[in-house]
Amino acid sequence: MGRGVFTKRDLQAGDLIGIEEMFSWTIMDECKYSRCLNCMKENYLMLIPCPNCTCAMFCSKKCLEDGTNKFHQYECPIINFMYDYLPSNFILTIRTLLNVINEFSTIKNCYTSCVESVTKNIYGDETSEFDFKDYKYSNGINLINSIYYDKSDAMAFFPYIPIIALLKYFLIRKTKLKEMVIEKEHQDFISEAMLLYTRIIQDSSYGSKIIFSEDSPEFQFLSPFESLFNHSCNPNVEHWIIGKKVYFLTLKPIKKGLQLLLNYCPDFGTLPKEHRILFLESRNFVCRCEACLKDYPTFNIEKAKNHKPKLYTRDFNAILSNMGKINDMTPKQAYTYLKQCSKFMEKYYYKFFPDQPVILIERLITKIISKLLGDESMKNVIKKNK
Ligand SMILES: [Zn+2]
Ligand SMILES: [Zn+2]
Ligand SMILES: [Zn+2]
Repeated sequence: MGRGVFTKRDLQAGDLIGIEEMFSWTIMDECKYSRCLNCMKENYLMLIPCPNCTCAMFCSKKCLEDGTNKFHQYECPIINFMYDYLPSNFILTIRTLLNVINEFSTIKNCYTSCVESVTKNIYGDETSEFDFKDYKYSNGINLINSIYYDKSDAMAFFPYIPIIALLKYFLIRKTKLKEMVIEKEHQDFISEAMLLYTRIIQDSSYGSKIIFSEDSPEFQFLSPFESLFNHSCNPNVEHWIIGKKVYFLTLKPIKKGLQLLLNYCPDFGTLPKEHRILFLESRNFVCRCEACLKDYPTFNIEKAKNHKPKLYTRDFNAILSNMGKINDMTPKQAYTYLKQCSKFMEKYYYKFFPDQPVILIERLITKIISKLLGDESMKNVIKKNK
């Protein structure tokens, strides 16, 4: 078994398993005037521009300062070029590199640390364990640097070499990096790191993965923890994005030792197997999840509501009677409702999934979590019950 995320304890549906800050991010060209480049919050027509370029917008003086210090001071002279000519994957590659450099005070430190984490392959072999409890933002670098370092994979880097060479030229000739990257070794490091990040971003960034969604994403980001998850068309975890934070919550009860799985195409309930296969094939991916192997049925809300009586019918109807009231619920009521759904899943999921009513409760859980995470005070209740 390859890399994956496993739970060390029993989890219930609706449990928060982690919050991760995006490691690097970029806003799509069409949305760059409606989101703050530093905190990613939407703030239409109220943003302050960087005084030196027309591309970077910030929601406050503080964000302007933070964003400039972190990465924008380097990219500012070439940001127009970036937006005009580069696919977002490469913009994200540059930001990833700049965020990595920013974590260290000099290129030399950055180089030494990156080489070390690659050689040691921290978190990279199958037996090593990575505990989310001890995970900090800066560990993201080690995670990123070890994600796809596989020498047999060298051919996969080939198509990117010309464009990375060009980006390196711009970065070390036209930006402040000129003063920092002098030695040949460090110049090579810039291009090697960018090649690696491009590969990772291609396979693991949000925005690159969600190409099947109806609306194109407004931004693209790299979340190292998220890139450790494997795919399932029947996921047991979902992510919610708020500003720059990514919340991971469970959708089903998950027994200790089992794998946590996310999904990157519409799930089995939304899209029938033959369509999912086509989509996943375009990503060179053959899915062997239980939904694909057992060909689970798509979700049909009418069928769910009109199911024939079963062992769970009473509990199901009790939940169903409040389904239309979610929008009017106070956060506290919504939380109680979430717990009620979670209990239902605990009792019936393993016996009856994928019965239509059980799929419906799982979808309801997603809806309640979205409501709760949209509420500042309730976000804390969710966090406390982690
Ligand atoms: Zn901001
Ligand atoms: Zn600027
Ligand atoms: Zn599948």
